[in-house]
Amino acid sequence: MDLGIKGKWALVCGASKGLGLGCAQALAADGANLVINARGADALEAAATQLRAIPGAGTVLAVACDITSDQGRAAVFGVQGGPGTDFDIVVTNAGGPPPGDFRDWEREAWIKALDANMLTPIWLIKATVDGMAQRGFGRIVNITSGAVKAPIDILGLSNGARTGLTGFVAGVARSSIAGSGVTINNLLPGAFDTDRLRTTAKGQSEKTGKPIEELLEARAKTIPAKRFGTAAEFGAICAFLCSQHAGYITGQNVLADGGMFPGTM
Ligand code: NAD
Repeated sequence: MDLGIKGKWALVCGASKGLGLGCAQALAADGANLVINARGADALEAAATQLRAIPGAGTVLAVACDITSDQGRAAVFGVQGGPGTDFDIVVTNAGGPPPGDFRDWEREAWIKALDANMLTPIWLIKATVDGMAQRGFGRIVNITSGAVKAPIDILGLSNGARTGLTGFVAGVARSSIAGSGVTINNLLPGAFDTDRLRTTAKGQSEKTGKPIEELLEARAKTIPAKRFGTAAEFGAICAFLCSQHAGYITGQNVLADGGMFPGTM
């Protein structure tokens, strides 16, 4: 299917690996021009090289910076050869907050989580959405988490910050921009096979003494699909939400979790 995004400018955050890279790959395969971002310059450059080699890929510009900082966002919007703030597609993403016990989190931990997983996406939406509306097309996809629908106790920072973003998006997606061809949706990963998943398993392995692979295998068995998702699958869903065909889907929370969430809706 032609997604109708050839030549559109897409910003994909947290795109040196994992789910962000999966989204960037799928958008590149459909001919979108990309500005990709992540903190580590080497991994980001390697990702950019890989993306440029995808048949049909457009321009790929890489900006190594922390997207949660003012300087980082200024660098992304100021990159030479990029579209400024005139992006047609924005995929917001940053690392998730650490797990822990809520009794141990002071204000600083909360502010960091809110900055990364709530305020940065809101800032990116604010910077781009009116231009999208003026041009009559825009797609914003926020990578959040299945924990928004089914909170996980040790991920309280993530549950709180991402749910705040979800409430904000529910309102703004249905505001006047909805009549100007702009959609905003959240894409909620369940368990996907990325470094993040393996880092969590490593922590459990250190606590329990069980090998990482054994822990991952046991976890995969609890998922109705009996496996973890792949970044490519995630990217394909994201690219569809960014496509010309998805113009009537807005304000939604799209869960990709292999059937893990047990509810009817
Ligand atoms: P990952 O660790 O594999 O990749 C994260 C990417 O984001 C990397 O490119 C990293 O450099 C970049 N990044 C992190 N912080 C950044 C920052 N401040 N500025 C710029 N770039 C930054 O993680 P992932 O598995 O791809 O997860 C992406 C998001 O989805 C995270 O927020 C994670 O918590 C969430 N999530 C993942 C899963 C899963 O199973 N993988 C499940 C639920 C939620």
